[in-house]
Amino acid sequence: MSAIAPTRVQATRAYRRKLGDYEITALSDGFVDLSFGVWQGIEQEAFDAALTDHFMPTGGFRNGITSFVINTGAKIIMIDAGAAGLFGPNSYHFPDNLAHAGLTAADIDLVIPTHAHPDHIGALLRDGQASLPNAEIRVNQTELDFWTSEAAQAKAPDFMRGWWDLVRGVDRAYAGRLTSFADNAALGDGITHMPFPGHTPGHSGYLIESAGEQLLIWGDLVVHHAIQFPHPQASMIFDIDPGLGHQSRLRGLDLAATDKLLTAATHLPFPTFGYVARRGDAYQWVPETWRYDVSGLAWQPVV
Ligand SMILES: [Zn+2]
Repeated sequence: MSAIAPTRVQATRAYRRKLGDYEITALSDGFVDLSFGVWQGIEQEAFDAALTDHFMPTGGFRNGITSFVINTGAKIIMIDAGAAGLFGPNSYHFPDNLAHAGLTAADIDLVIPTHAHPDHIGALLRDGQASLPNAEIRVNQTELDFWTSEAAQAKAPDFMRGWWDLVRGVDRAYAGRLTSFADNAALGDGITHMPFPGHTPGHSGYLIESAGEQLLIWGDLVVHHAIQFPHPQASMIFDIDPGLGHQSRLRGLDLAATDKLLTAATHLPFPTFGYVARRGDAYQWVPETWRYDVSGLAWQPVV
């Protein structure tokens, strides 16, 4: 008999997938618990029924926070960076989290956030300083304009007002290394920006292409798979323009379903890779089966 105390921590925070010549690592930054109260555009009965359909407890949910590391072979690029404790107590510390991907903070060359909410850019700072000594940060121009606008901050609800200060802090800490780009910009290394405004004014997706393979990564176009795939009209109190967000969600889901695009996103169930399937007027999330091989081995049946 071996009396070994349970660790009480998850065994892995990193999952890897090949995309053409690139290696993509999904990094779990932990989770945040959210109640039904953050939703709008859906009745609680329909909300709870959607959770029940997915064999999940009702009344609210536990939402993962994932960021992505793209190793192109020549460069290390991150999409989002995690919350670093700024969005509830259950997110991991960054850059320690990078160790689970075999990386250090100094290895990151570029970060392109999907948007400027704390659970996506919080980890760019540590004690108010830049946590990534060598990284360039590139942000959509509309997104940067909004989160550095004093007029927009003055109009914000109380719980959101500090989020502008966070963006200004990142802007200061990465002075000379933070630049912006226009909608639909080609960002190099096979990465193209896709505007999905609504959740925030410059909320973004990125289409990543390598050696003929494609991956679409979005931020909060869908925040919970059990709710917003069957009910795309459901929005959240965090959405700056819920109507525009709904239109973007329909456009993004239609694109992913029509083109059968491999997709990943910050808040889908870890490691978040999967596909969007059309189901009548709505959609369903189909997680990709675990990839045992990351090297690109050809299929070799034993029998
Ligand atoms: Zn988010």
